[in-house]
Amino acid sequence: MLVSAKEMLNKAKAGKYAVGQFNINNLEWTKAILQTAEELKSPVILGVSEGAGKYMCGYTTIVGMVNGMINELGITVPVALHLDHGSYEGAKQCIEAGFSSVMFDGSHYPIEENIAKTKELVAICEEKGLSLEAEVGAIGGEEDGVVGNGEVADPEECKMIADLGVTMLAAGIGNIHGKYPANWAGLSFDTLAKIQELTGTMPLVLHGGTGIPADMIQKAISLGVSKINVNTECQLAFAEATRKYIEAGKDLEGKGFDPRKLLADGTAAIKATVKEKMELFGSVNKA
Ligand SMILES: [Zn+2]
Repeated sequence: MLVSAKEMLNKAKAGKYAVGQFNINNLEWTKAILQTAEELKSPVILGVSEGAGKYMCGYTTIVGMVNGMINELGITVPVALHLDHGSYEGAKQCIEAGFSSVMFDGSHYPIEENIAKTKELVAICEEKGLSLEAEVGAIGGEEDGVVGNGEVADPEECKMIADLGVTMLAAGIGNIHGKYPANWAGLSFDTLAKIQELTGTMPLVLHGGTGIPADMIQKAISLGVSKINVNTECQLAFAEATRKYIEAGKDLEGKGFDPRKLLADGTAAIKATVKEKMELFGSVNKA
């Protein structure tokens, strides 16, 4: 059964570790992440962007697939199904479809409008027992076609949004979606410390987890980050392993063209990446 991310993240915040949000793209992705979480006894959040939602034939298809897998694979660890960077309308659609968690990304609205819309969603999520993530300060890099500039959030605005009763808060602290450029300035730990000071026990979310050095990840966790989003890294691992399989000519040997074989190495690479992240984030054996 899907659960809200609230309890797993409050536990993570108190225990000074982070739960990974791993974005899904298809059946192989979802299966790889769920199996790894179960093997490592780690709570897990499956992230779905609106673009990936369309690709996977809509939110109800995804809810059906994930619930079916939890059942068929005998998954016992807590699993949250979460809309990543949702629009106001997208959030409502996911709630309707049976997601257990949504993010409303109102960071591009003026703060007053972000607050008004967030408030409305807080009320809906509270009533249904779902978790809600809000964002202050756009995250840099490309987010489903929207390119941002690695902003740093205003800690006072973070407190305003946190006080509305959201479950977790994403704040830009110089992090970027996708690959980090060579001249990246690193995370702004001063900003993170200030946000944590003002928002207290609120679990903080770090987007753009791909390519942030391990020591920075650990420092961010020590400063209150309890959820870390990983997307690009699984994609790169999957693509590399699949390319190697084809370049080695394995698809031309016997029934190597069978998709169950063709996608097997890429799927194993996703599992290895998820395992590495769960170990780094400290969520192993926390289910
Ligand atoms: Zn993000």
